[in-house]
Amino acid sequence: MAIKLKSPREIELIRQAGRVVSRVLSRLGEMVAPGVTTGDLDAEAERLTQQLGAEALFKGVPGRGGPFPGTICASINEQVVHGIPSDRIIRDGDLVSIDYGCRLEGYCGDAAATFIAGRTDPQVRRLVSATRRMLEIAIEESAAGMMWSAVVRQMQKYVENQGFSVVREFVGHGIGRQMHEDPKVPNFVSRDLLKRDILLEEGLVLAVEPMVTMGSHEVLVEEDGWTVVTKDGKPSAHFEHTMAVTADGISVLTNGS
Ligand code: MG
Repeated sequence: MAIKLKSPREIELIRQAGRVVSRVLSRLGEMVAPGVTTGDLDAEAERLTQQLGAEALFKGVPGRGGPFPGTICASINEQVVHGIPSDRIIRDGDLVSIDYGCRLEGYCGDAAATFIAGRTDPQVRRLVSATRRMLEIAIEESAAGMMWSAVVRQMQKYVENQGFSVVREFVGHGIGRQMHEDPKVPNFVSRDLLKRDILLEEGLVLAVEPMVTMGSHEVLVEEDGWTVVTKDGKPSAHFEHTMAVTADGISVLTNGS
């Protein structure tokens, strides 16, 4: 694995891209409501990306389903990640997970959040808050010199104690000049992680992105070759931030700071 550590200057450049990511995601979060389509969200993301002088990262990414057609990934309810924006109308109670990344001045930022459209039942709200909290644990518990497995153990324990499951097939990643760099950043402890653990070194920049399901952790890819859904059809939530390990702790680069 060739992990590229970033200088303080590079981290600031990633933060600038991260500010665009934060603005786009908050704008889309305000728009999420019954009656809006995921295509409407995508069009607004495209417009804002251009206005802010950034380059959207997801459009054209090659995959089994052909080049990804959207500026954002929009995944509803049992869709976990990589949902394709379309004329699908968001309904009352839907969970809408939006993932967005862009490049600015050569550096990338990537983040995701799950929004609730209208009213939904308390168990679904619990799923969303537990997933958000899982990402906060990553931010609070990580520090230079620690191993990722020690952090992820606490993240996983927290959501599993709430009765939810952590998706295995899709994981976070290093980020910098490229959206996907080494290392792969799992959200669960495995023998593989313990064998190839990640040392949280100063200058390491990661996109940490837990995906949590209400039922089983098993997922499958739909016929479009992109959309990942839970195998049991139960809802799923997704939160992501790009974050840097610094001497002063973790610095979140996609929260608009
Ligand atoms: Mg990501």
